[in-house]
Amino acid sequence: MDATFLKRTSRCSSSNCVSQSLPPMGGGSDCIQPRSGHQPRKRQHPNTPREGTMSPAKKDRLRVRVILLNGKTLHGFIAHFSPSMNELPLHTKHGRRMILLDEIAYILFQHAADGAMLKSQLPNLLEVRITTFDGKIYRAKIQKTEFNPRGFHAFPVHTDSTFAHAYFFHRGVCLVEYAKPLGDILVAEKLTGKEDVQQALDKQRKGQVPLGHILLESGKLNEQDLQNSLKRQQWMRAKLGEVLIESGHIDSEELELALTEQRKRHDKRLGDLLIEMGLITEEALVSALSIKFHLPLVNLDEYPINDDAHSELQEDIIMRYQVLPIDIDETTLTVATADPLDIDAYDAIRFHTNRRIRQVIAIPSQLRQYIDDLFASGRAEDWLEIDQLHEEEEDEETEVTQLALKGSEAVPIVRLVNKIILEGLRKNASDIHILPQADKTILAYRINGELLQETTLDKWHEKRVVARLKILSGMDVTVHRMPQDGRMAVRHEHLARELRISCIPNAHGESIVMRILHRESSAELNTLGLRGQDQEALQRQMLRPFGLILATGPTGSGKSTTLFALLKSIADTPKHILTIEDPIEMEIPGINQIQVNSRIGMSFSRILRNVLRHDPDVVMVGEMRDPETAEIGIQAALTGHLMLSSLHTNTAVDTVVRLIDLGIPAYLLASALNAVISQNLVRKLCPNCRISLPVDSDIAKLLQQTNMDIPHRLYVPGQCDACHGTGFIGRVMVYELLELNDTMRMAIHDGLVGQELEKLAIQAGMVPKTRHAYELATAGEICRDDLMHLLI
Ligand SMILES: [Zn+2]
Repeated sequence: MDATFLKRTSRCSSSNCVSQSLPPMGGGSDCIQPRSGHQPRKRQHPNTPREGTMSPAKKDRLRVRVILLNGKTLHGFIAHFSPSMNELPLHTKHGRRMILLDEIAYILFQHAADGAMLKSQLPNLLEVRITTFDGKIYRAKIQKTEFNPRGFHAFPVHTDSTFAHAYFFHRGVCLVEYAKPLGDILVAEKLTGKEDVQQALDKQRKGQVPLGHILLESGKLNEQDLQNSLKRQQWMRAKLGEVLIESGHIDSEELELALTEQRKRHDKRLGDLLIEMGLITEEALVSALSIKFHLPLVNLDEYPINDDAHSELQEDIIMRYQVLPIDIDETTLTVATADPLDIDAYDAIRFHTNRRIRQVIAIPSQLRQYIDDLFASGRAEDWLEIDQLHEEEEDEETEVTQLALKGSEAVPIVRLVNKIILEGLRKNASDIHILPQADKTILAYRINGELLQETTLDKWHEKRVVARLKILSGMDVTVHRMPQDGRMAVRHEHLARELRISCIPNAHGESIVMRILHRESSAELNTLGLRGQDQEALQRQMLRPFGLILATGPTGSGKSTTLFALLKSIADTPKHILTIEDPIEMEIPGINQIQVNSRIGMSFSRILRNVLRHDPDVVMVGEMRDPETAEIGIQAALTGHLMLSSLHTNTAVDTVVRLIDLGIPAYLLASALNAVISQNLVRKLCPNCRISLPVDSDIAKLLQQTNMDIPHRLYVPGQCDACHGTGFIGRVMVYELLELNDTMRMAIHDGLVGQELEKLAIQAGMVPKTRHAYELATAGEICRDDLMHLLI
């Protein structure tokens, strides 16, 4: 269905187009200045302040009442007014006072100024009833072609009015209601002739097609820019029945019938009853409302609904008032309603959002469908429990913090944050990224190692989402320019996950990355994907009384999962097991886990030094990232402790070089190092849709260089429902395990590195990672491209 609108007679885009028909005036056409020689009417207004309190140029002043948005009324004089000024200098009996125009609802001029007088004499003034924000009603005439983004001029209908002229800002007005019946307005606005309306009404009665639709279709009415219309919030406390009679949809007998019925059934709305009784179609009803109240009629199937808007209102408000938020910007929420006369709904929405409300009208049945769909999909998974893992700060919270807390804990934001996290869990993402850009914010998920953009958030939501996440993860919400880290736990159905959250300021805001840690870890040695003999070798290594075991690989290669599986395998032995972690990724019963906190100087190396006095048997240090930690770690491994840690290297043999680079003497390393597992996580092909292809020359060449047979076929990802069209399901570990024997120790002691050391390792039984990758690729576990990547 097409939206129907009242067409304005003038298409002038200038906000002050009134001046085109006026003689030139000083100060711009929209400005108001006193008539020259205009005398203050002192005698008629005995309360006028005495000369002394006023500034000298008193004769050029206009007497005004200024009604502020806070409800206060100020009396005084002004020299000049233009809706485009920022401040209004008002002379009161207490002296001159500057009033921000943004605080003004409307201004009543006691005596019309020259420009205003001219305007009031213009033809085509439309009689309206203006309902102000504070519930006052003014009958006035307005220039119907005048559409200023800030407000409009109005002139009294009767000469004995309390004002001679007024300026209403849109923000100060709830409703501008045309005083005349709809048909007359259409004619008066020269939208259409009387006969056209009558014909349209006749046709409509026969065919039950909306009036506006017919007028639009027959070219009698022009469609108007939606955005322009949205700017006008219009409101009315009129009776629906009158509107429908005016518009010719029903007659007074039918209305009486419906009202009688309504008295019997208090819970029914009149509109719904009229539809139920077959007196009017729902399209006709909303069409009449749209025209009468100058509100756009929106087809929800065609409107680009902004999903961010939903989170602005709580579910119970949406359900109770049957309103659907469909768009949002910095200041305004656009809400689709079937009943613009529902003042309670309007008030409730304003109260809950603290934003301006733009109403648009939607067909009731369509609106109901959209509202039902909105919650049907979300209800089952909206439940998410969040624990704050951080320690409660003892510090006194500043007022700023409390305000920020209050602002960000509005329920819709809670829902949006939950939705973002749940989506990450549902997609089995490893990371969730919130990346602010200049004009929007990208929300992306890392799935099977790939970062995929999901959607965008607007800037307004970004700030609140970031604030909420910072609070939940124990960061300082008042700090915006420093990187911060935090963590929290989430529980959803059977899943329990810990999120490690990092917040870093960038040029456009604060960028957030949430790493989803698998807290209730399925990490067992037998589920890592190790070959049988390697699993046994590692179990054996874990029973040794001292030495160093390292897991290496790039970020996100599952190193800590491997280390935890190793620790778990001995968790029930009578040993004192300590871990030093940043953050504590998984909780393992029976293990003493310590959190690094570099802010207070609790670094890896410092804690490690201390815990060695705590008589541990086994110590796991999250990462050997600095020479000091490496050195203490090696010392510990040589003095009767079994040490576990991780390093950032590509192969098992590279690890030796890396540690020597960190300042560990080769002879110490040769004695301390027991085993290295070097690993990568590679996307696992979906077995349901993978495609087998003949081997191409590029990969054949690479395989030849690494002395491997060339298989006939390799696999590439397909697309199916089982893998959500990605071609992959989860990830698989590609690894090599190096166990040091005496020959190896001797070689490291002698400073052997690189290929020669690698050769020795293979002789000692290590299956190189490239070989493992080859096996997985030919078995269809990983794809051709990932094999290629691992071979290079
Ligand atoms: Zn698939």
